[in-house]
This record gives sequence, C-alpha cells and structure tokens, in this order.
Amino acid sequence: MLRISGLKTFYGNSQALFGMDVEIQEGQVATLMGRNGMGKTTTVHSIMGITPSQDGEIEFNGTPLRGMTPFAVARLGIGLVPEGRQIFPNLTAHENLVATAANWGKLKTPWTVERVYELFPGLAARRTSMGNLLSGGEQQMLAVGRALMTNPKLLILDEATEGLAPLIRDEIWRSLEALKGEGLSILVIDKNVKDLARIADRHHIVEKGQVVWTGDSTSLLADQELTQRYLGV
Ligand code: ATP
Repeated sequence: MLRISGLKTFYGNSQALFGMDVEIQEGQVATLMGRNGMGKTTTVHSIMGITPSQDGEIEFNGTPLRGMTPFAVARLGIGLVPEGRQIFPNLTAHENLVATAANWGKLKTPWTVERVYELFPGLAARRTSMGNLLSGGEQQMLAVGRALMTNPKLLILDEATEGLAPLIRDEIWRSLEALKGEGLSILVIDKNVKDLARIADRHHIVEKGQVVWTGDSTSLLADQELTQRYLGV
C-alpha cells in the first residue's frame, strides 16, 4: 500500500533522511521506532508533503506522492494524527470533527461524528467543550477522530500515546486494535515497545535518517541487544 525507498530529506543544508525505506501492506499495522531526532517525524512529514523530500520514492497504492501538497496527499487517503495533536483550540470537540469531514473516496459508509463517539465514548461527553479545554487524552482521541473523519485508507499517528496517562494510553491502543480489526492500515510512531509489539505486524527501527532493522514483533522482542542498542529498552 505504501512503499518508501531511498528517501532523502533536507532542512536547508542539513540532511535529516539518508535513504529511508519503509513498507506497509494493506490492512497491516507498521511502526517507526527509534530515539528522538532520528528522522521519524521527518519521514511522516515527507509522506504528507509537509516537508518536501529531495530524492527517492514514495508510492501510495501505485501513485507517486513526492511533490504533492498535504491536501492532495490527504485526498488520496492518508490521515495524519500529528505530534502535538494540533486541535483547533477555538472550536468545540464536535466542531473539530465536523471541520475535517470528507469522503473523497466515496465510501458507502463513511465515518460520522457518532461513529467517532462510539469509538471514544469519553469524547461524546465532551462534545460541546472547546478544544483548548480538553485534557491531553481527550485531545488525542479527538485528533484520531478528526483524522478518521477524512475517511483515510492509511492512518498515521506520530507519537500515539506520548505524555498520556496509562488509562488513556490503553484507550488509544484499544481503538487502534479496533480500527485494525476493521481493516484499516496504520503507521504508528510511539516509544512503548511492548504495546507496539502487541499491535503491529512490522517494525522499522530508524537510526540517523535510515532504517537499520525491519522485522515482525517476535523477532523484535527476541533481540534484546537490538532493542537495547536502538531503543534503549
Ligand atoms: P522526535 O521523536 O524527537 O520528533 P524524530 O525521530 O521524529 O524525533 P525528526 O524530528 O524527524 O526526528 O528529526 C530528524 C532530524 O532533523 C534531527 O536531527 C532534527 O534536529 C532535524 N530537524 C527536524 N526538524 C527540523 C527543522 N524544522 N529544521 C531543521 N532541522 C530539523
């Protein structure tokens, strides 16, 4: 579904990606793992067209994405839950969801606000609260819901559970498992190796702008030297 090969991205003269290779199969959950500053967010921003890449390929269901605007990428079916959530602060939770509603792929049963509330019952109770008054956990649920309202084929989460309380983290993982169960493809960035191993089919460990290891959860958990060296766990 998504294939990235040899991707190189620069910030001015400073190179952040040195030939990234990532692959996500339809219906699967894939991860980008690695310490801070290794290039995970840059990879996501390159996919979305937020940060332009200079070399390599990004192909989504056969369509080359490089050079496209973020809007065009979203239209093709990639939904982003950005690092820091970026909730519209002066809109209510409900309005945040309505604001991004789109069914470019003409799905027969597109996401609705009510379906988002079914996925996150806690959010339903807060539907009239302004975005800036929501807790971090509520904002993250809202950010997931807002991305779903664009009816993506691939959902990308940059730091899925960072800074959230354990109960809210569990809520986010539960929702991702449910979405996976419905056949949604997901690319997730997070620091929690155990949770990622439980939910994901394929992992990419990123080190200095390159993927240095890729494999499934069994091989990831079996290799303590690997997780210690690149993830510090
Ligand atoms: P984190 O978890 O801290 O976000 P990351 O793995 O997502 O880490 P990136 O944010 O992609 O890493 O950063 C990769 C490299 O690019 C780092 O060296 C970082 O300092 C650099 N970088 C990121 N954003 C910018 C920017 N806007 N301008 C210049 N350099 C940047």
